[in-house]
Amino acid sequence: MSAHAAPTAAAAEELFTTLTGHAPEGLWSAPGRVNLIGEHTDYNDGFVLPFAIPHRTVAAVGRRDDDRIRVASTFADEPVEVALDDLHRLFPTPAGEAPRVAEWAAYPLGVAWALREAGVTGSGVDIALASDVPVGAGLSSSAAIEGATASALNDLWGAGLDRVALARIGRTAENDAVGAPTGIMDQMASMLGEPDSAIFLDCRSLDAVPVPVGIVEAGLAVLVIDTRVAHAHSTGGYRERRASCERGARMLGATSLRDVSVDDLGRAESILDDVTFRRVRHVVTENQRVLDTVRTLREQGARAIGGLLVASHASMRDDFEISVPELDTAVDAALSAGAIGARMTGGGFGGAAIALIDRDAVGAVTDAVHAAFAASGFSPPVMFTVTPSEGPRRDA
Ligand code: ADP
Ligand code: MG
Repeated sequence: MSAHAAPTAAAAEELFTTLTGHAPEGLWSAPGRVNLIGEHTDYNDGFVLPFAIPHRTVAAVGRRDDDRIRVASTFADEPVEVALDDLHRLFPTPAGEAPRVAEWAAYPLGVAWALREAGVTGSGVDIALASDVPVGAGLSSSAAIEGATASALNDLWGAGLDRVALARIGRTAENDAVGAPTGIMDQMASMLGEPDSAIFLDCRSLDAVPVPVGIVEAGLAVLVIDTRVAHAHSTGGYRERRASCERGARMLGATSLRDVSVDDLGRAESILDDVTFRRVRHVVTENQRVLDTVRTLREQGARAIGGLLVASHASMRDDFEISVPELDTAVDAALSAGAIGARMTGGGFGGAAIALIDRDAVGAVTDAVHAAFAASGFSPPVMFTVTPSEGPRRDA
């Protein structure tokens, strides 16, 4: 087990033992992710290039001798317990409404429900969760909790589903149980994580190709700057952006914005209102930037992708309007301190930015970002470096 996951695994195991009075049957974990590039393209059938990070959520799980499911988390005060046969009464959560259970519990219970909807059954289970993925930071603690739960139930219920199928189960839980209308990028990134590679994912076909990033070999590091500004996917801005994209595609006669190219933007500008056009322009140019990043990584290496990261951030800030002052400050300060590239990552409206920097410059960039936050009167951000890491695994 990596040093990273060990304290988290111990915390999950301890919670399980406190809850049940006996040891778990096993520990399953799944990682969070950062998205190198390709934001708000997943639900437009487009391209993304995320990688799994060393931070993981661990599920300590054991079967029960009844047909109930109980979930607990170090993150929550109270466990939640329901009969497996009642899951279909709880879910799906009606659009726009809050889940009928505590929101956090809708993630693991939603996974169990989605598996049962897919025809997978098994005995009751106790699930204790612990995580070192920052929650609500845009690093996909949600995909990590779904992935850890889905991996555990897949094994204990003998489902034999592959990783793409489990990613779909996670997405169903997030969309239909939690009620967050997200795409499938996060679950795929968590499920298909590989050391040293990002996952080039076509969100239409779900074809996924590992792309070696060579960050370490190039003497580089990816610094995560968690602004600590909480985002909320299930509400407001995310939903509204999604609706704009659907409207834009419809008005352009396209199935989705995946089918609109950079060459079509002139026509798009003459047809669409200004706001819809700018939303469309972000998605269309972002898809192209993902393709350009994959080609650049293969042909020239990680040092050459900085400009694409910077252009991606500008597009999210100016056209898609999902950045916040803290994220812009993080990106600007990192670039001023010598970062090769920087951009916000994740759904936006808060959360984290990433900066691609020389390994030798981690201290200088960290100091510069801290100073810029202090000068703007923002609360201090949390910063750490990440490397592409492996997907789900059974830890014990
Ligand atoms: P992100 O995925 O960027 O961290 P989301 O809003 O998509 O943010 O998901 C965060 C939510 O996921 C939390 O508010 C909580 O409900 C749930 N969650 C994540 N990790 C855990 C955990 N370890 N225990 C309980 N709930 C969790
Ligand atoms: Mg999430």
